Amino acid sequence: MDSRTAYVVLSLMMLANSGALGLILRDLPADLRSPVRHWQAGTLIIAAGYFLHAFPSLPMPVMVTFSNGAILFGLTICWRGIQQFDGSPPGRWQFVPAALGTLVICWFSAVQPDTLTRILAVSLASAVILGGCVSDLGKREYRDGSLSRLLLTAIFVLITALNALRFGYFAWADIPPGFSIADNAEVMNIISPLVAAMLPVIGTTAFTLMCSERLRRQWERAASTDYLTGLPNRRTLTETGRRRFELARLEGRSVAMALIDIDGFKSINDCYGHDVGDMALTHVATCLGQGIEAGELLARTGGEEFVALLTETAPQKAQQAAEYLRQMVQRQHFLLQGVRIPLTVSVGIAVSQSEDRDFDSLLRRADQAMYAAKSAGRNRVQLAA
Ligand code: GH3
Ligand code: MG
Ligand code: MG
Repeated sequence: MDSRTAYVVLSLMMLANSGALGLILRDLPADLRSPVRHWQAGTLIIAAGYFLHAFPSLPMPVMVTFSNGAILFGLTICWRGIQQFDGSPPGRWQFVPAALGTLVICWFSAVQPDTLTRILAVSLASAVILGGCVSDLGKREYRDGSLSRLLLTAIFVLITALNALRFGYFAWADIPPGFSIADNAEVMNIISPLVAAMLPVIGTTAFTLMCSERLRRQWERAASTDYLTGLPNRRTLTETGRRRFELARLEGRSVAMALIDIDGFKSINDCYGHDVGDMALTHVATCLGQGIEAGELLARTGGEEFVALLTETAPQKAQQAAEYLRQMVQRQHFLLQGVRIPLTVSVGIAVSQSEDRDFDSLLRRADQAMYAAKSAGRNRVQLAA
C-alpha cells in the first residue's frame, strides 16, 4: 500500500472510530459527555488533516499548512478532552503551540519554502501538546492507577519519542528539494502513517476504556457507600463483617462491634425539618469518623443508625472505645445558625463468642444491647450479655 492510500485508510478508520464514539455518547453520564465529545472532535480534525495528505492536486503550501494545522489543533482538542475528563480547567495558552506551529508551517511552505524547518515546527509544536497531555494524565491528584490511563500515557510518550526520532532522521538525512509526504521511496513515509494511527485508533480505545473504568468505579462507589454521609453502607458492612467474622473464627479470635443509634432523632426532624435532620446525620457521621481508629470500619446501616467494627476485642477495651465514640458525639456541638442542638447516641456492643453462629447473630446481639442502652435512659454504652 502506498503512503497516500495508507493516509486515506487511516482517515476512514478514524472516521469509523469517531462514529462509534458518537453512538455511545448518548449512553454516557453527563460528566463524561463533554470529554468524549472533545476527543471525538479532536480525532475527527486529525483525520481531516491526514486525509488532506492524499490530495496531490492541492497546492503544496495549502495542503501542508492545512493538514499539519489540523493535526496540531486536533491534538490540542484531544488534550482538552483529557482535562475535561479530570474536571480540570483549560490552560490559558493551550492553543498557542498549535497556532504558532501552523503559522510557522505556513511561512516555511508558502513564503520561504524550507522542509526541515517545517518538520521542526510540527515536531516542536506537537511535542509541547503531547507533553501537556502526558503531564495532565500523570498528575498525582487524577492518577487513579487504571491500566487504560497508563496505556494512554504510554501512547502519548511513544508518539512524542517517534516524533523526535522522525525529526532526527530528517535532520540527518538530506531532504530532496521536491520532497513529498506521499513519496513511497521515503522510508519515513511508510512509518509516519503508522505513528499517526496510534492516537486516533489505539488512543481512542484507551480513552473509551478509561471512560468505562470511570463508570465502573462510580457504580461500585454508589453501590457500596451511603449517599448522604459518604460512609460505607449496610451492604459493605455486611460483606466486610462476614469476612472478618469468618477469618477471626478460623484464627480463634473475636470480632467486636458497636451499634450506634442517635437518640430522639425523630424530634429533630419534627422540630427543624428533614434537611436539618440530614445535616445532623452528617455531623454525627463526622464525629464518629474522627473517633474511630485506622483499620476500623464505620458504616451507616440505616436511618439514624451506624455500626463500627472495632479493633479492640477484649470486652472492657471495646467498651472504652465505644464510650469514646459516644463522647465524641456529645462533645462536638451541632450548631444551627449559632444555636446548639444537643445530640447524643446510645451504643450497643457485642463481642463474638463461640455461640455466635454468624456475623448476623452478632449484629442482633449488638442491637439488643443498644435497645437496653435506650431503656436504661439513652446516651450510654451497653455491653451485650
Ligand atoms: P430513639 O432515641 O428511640 O432512637 O428515637 P428516635 O427518634 O431516634 O428513633 P425513631 O426510630 O423513632 O426515629 C428515627 C427517625 O429517623 C425517623 C426517620 O424519619 C428518621 N430518618 C431516617 N432516615 C433519615 C434520613 O436519611 N434523613 C433524615 N432527616 N431523617 C431520617
Ligand atoms: Mg434513634
Ligand atoms: Mg433507630
